[in-house]
Amino acid sequence: MISTEMKKKLCAIVGAEYVLESEIDCFGYSYDSSFIPLSLHNKPELVVRPATTAQVSAIMALANAAGIPVTARGTASGRTGGSIPLAGGISLSLERMTKIVEFDAKNMMITVEPGVRTIEVYNFCAEKGLFYPPDPASWKYSSIGGNVSENAGGMRAVKYGVTSNYVMGLEVVLADGTVLQTGGKAIKNVTGYNLTQLFTGAEGTLGIITKITLRLIPLPKARNTLQLMFPSIESACDTIHEMLQSGVIPAAAELMDQTSIQAVARYRQLAIDPAIEACVIIEIDGEDAEALKKQASRIESLARRFQVKEVQIAGSPKEAEDIWSIRRGLSSAIGAMAPNRFGEDISVPRDAFPAVVRKIRDISEQYKLTIAVYGHAGDGNIHPSVLCDISRQEDADKAHHAINEIFTAALSVGGTLSGEHGIGITKRAYLEQALGPAGVAVLKAIKQALDPKGILNPGKIWETKE
Ligand SMILES: Cc1cc2nc3c(=O)[nH]c(=O)nc-3n(C[C@H](O)[C@H](O)[C@H](O)COP(=O)(O)OP(=O)(O)OC[C@H]3O[C@@H](n4cnc5c(N)ncnc54)[C@H](O)[C@@H]3O)c2cc1C
Repeated sequence: MISTEMKKKLCAIVGAEYVLESEIDCFGYSYDSSFIPLSLHNKPELVVRPATTAQVSAIMALANAAGIPVTARGTASGRTGGSIPLAGGISLSLERMTKIVEFDAKNMMITVEPGVRTIEVYNFCAEKGLFYPPDPASWKYSSIGGNVSENAGGMRAVKYGVTSNYVMGLEVVLADGTVLQTGGKAIKNVTGYNLTQLFTGAEGTLGIITKITLRLIPLPKARNTLQLMFPSIESACDTIHEMLQSGVIPAAAELMDQTSIQAVARYRQLAIDPAIEACVIIEIDGEDAEALKKQASRIESLARRFQVKEVQIAGSPKEAEDIWSIRRGLSSAIGAMAPNRFGEDISVPRDAFPAVVRKIRDISEQYKLTIAVYGHAGDGNIHPSVLCDISRQEDADKAHHAINEIFTAALSVGGTLSGEHGIGITKRAYLEQALGPAGVAVLKAIKQALDPKGILNPGKIWETKE
């Protein structure tokens, strides 16, 4: 319970208007964009919205002394319950920390506060001819601090990597209020442990990120998009493997299975041949439009070797946008198919992609549940959506078993529980299966060293025993 005295101190730090405590205000900070049951949503006792690192530091020092839980919150687009304040306490919202602190053209780096939206980072740099590649599908509303804390991926990961590949340095407020600087603009840096990467993907359990330095690359001048319709998942994946081996590294290679394609077809009233088992959207980019044309026809001829049924190469930005709109509409189309959806995020070695997609289809048949599968086939990241009605206990149980089997299938081929959404609440029960007891013990030792009172986002990544 947060005392009146403590509330007064917090108001003195950030200003009374930035401390929220009404039922309705706190309700707004009790959930995120994950697919978890309402019973796991939880209201904070207070929402505190600092504007500076000094304020974050003062809040943490107070909370740590009093043993009050603090859960960082970006824009709550997280898919695993990361920003839900499970233990109550303070929801520390970074929404006011939205400054672009420095743009360093010579070093090709940008330093930003955590509340800046991902797309704003991209747009700001693009206007100056530089490229920040990570593009989670949520980039219009996710914060860069949330991206760093989840090590977000995106469609361009196959060629450009994920958020962690661009984080050069961080300013982090530790549990006791200490302000730590990690990394920096030096490209080579092996001085001590790599603390920058430790806080990247830590889901707000090790510290509060208050500044982020990102490296940038030159913006590609040309891009082209292809849509390929295949009779089987295998022929689609074979085409992608051959393409990568031949040296064509696409900016994106997205795959949608038959259930996903037909969901979009119904949702958007499109006619798509029901015999199509996989749709692949490929984006290529580079310096030279002519070279891209050649790459596109190389991809087309490869796909023909693997029995592709339809090939569409975008002839204009408008046609490219039309192709991508199918992929972008997918989440809503799948969501409209059933009252509840559990969207998972496994990642497997690329060569295991078709076998795991088939296995998921078997699981779907075994439990008589619709499971739509799409993913970033270029990097082995699969998003199965288990559709059900959890108001029916039988459905809820079946979904639970099906998800269990999907995780087992991923781990059995050397894959992992999460490619980009993190562990949060939804996958913590499987952590030991994925990392082994020694792996979990090391994680807990790091947590103990940095947050001995366990106030930072308790209940995430693993369950906290009260
Ligand atoms: C439609 C949709 C599509 C999506 N597509 C993708 C995708 O393609 N790729 C992908 O990777 N993800 C995707 N996501 C998931 C989500 O957008 C990402 O995980 C994103 O990085 C979360 O950012 P956020 O600002 O919303 O963070 P939040 O959800 O607010 O928080 C996420 C976690 O980070 C912690 N956190 C937030 N800010 C800080 C900070 N400053 N310091 C310390 N900890 C902090 C929180 O405590 C929490 O644990 C998608 C989500 C949706 C709804």
